Amino acid sequence: MDLGIKGRAALVCAASKGLGRACAVSLAREGVRLTIVARTAGEIERAGREIAADTGATVTPIAADVTTAEGRSKVLAACPDPDILVTNAGGPPPGDFRNWTEADWLKAINANMLTPIALVKATVDGMIARAFGRIVNITSAAVKSPIPVLGLSNGARAGLTGFMAGLARETVRHNVTINNLLPGPFETDRLLRVMGVEAEKAGKGAAGYRREQAALNPAGRFGRPAEFGDACAYLCSAQAGFITGQNLMLDGGAFRSTF
Ligand code: NAP
Repeated sequence: MDLGIKGRAALVCAASKGLGRACAVSLAREGVRLTIVARTAGEIERAGREIAADTGATVTPIAADVTTAEGRSKVLAACPDPDILVTNAGGPPPGDFRNWTEADWLKAINANMLTPIALVKATVDGMIARAFGRIVNITSAAVKSPIPVLGLSNGARAGLTGFMAGLARETVRHNVTINNLLPGPFETDRLLRVMGVEAEKAGKGAAGYRREQAALNPAGRFGRPAEFGDACAYLCSAQAGFITGQNLMLDGGAFRSTF
């Protein structure tokens, strides 16, 4: 299926590895021109070279922290008019809410709620003027089904989801859609870190705990980042113009509900 976005410009945040990179790769395969961002210069430049070599796409890597105003200015200077925006940033650390300070909460709210809103604010009116836009926010399955050790994520992302739900209904008549992808457990560095903390809390070894958790998923495994990237590319497709304000769980069916 040709997704009809060849030649479009995409800004993909937090994309040197993991889920952001998978989204960038899937968009690059569709012939999208990419600007990709991460904080570590060497890593994002390497990712840019590898994605360009594998897909033939034009890739501009930018080393910046998207959670700061300066970082976002740098990114938007490189890609001022994206047709596609994938918001993403590192998730907050796991822990016990009794230990979290106000500063910890503000950091999580800034990274996982205010940063995507700022990026949307900077780009959505251009998309409306050009009558095409696809915005995908990478959030978390924890928005629907909270993970106790990730309380900072559960809270901050719920705020983002509420805001985007309203905006998505205003922009869709201009062919600008806004949707959220909710990852369950995907095989990334982040998953290894979070499972390490959970294993310790449960008094178990990390590798054994991971095997146990994978087996508990209805799919009997964790998700593969490429599966996530392809779902993102579909939501960014020309064909997906009637899908907006949705929260798509990619979790192997771990969240048990009838619909
Ligand atoms: P990951 O493998 O740790 O990759 C994170 C990527 O984000 C890296 O490229 C990192 O590069 C970049 N990054 C982090 N903070 C950044 C910042 N402030 N500005 C720019 N780039 C930044 O993580 P992941 O598993 O792909 O997770 C992506 C998001 O999905 C996170 O918010 C995570 O909480 C959420 N999530 C993941 C899972 C899962 O199973 N993997 C499940 C639920 C939710 P630098 O460090 O160089 O900046």
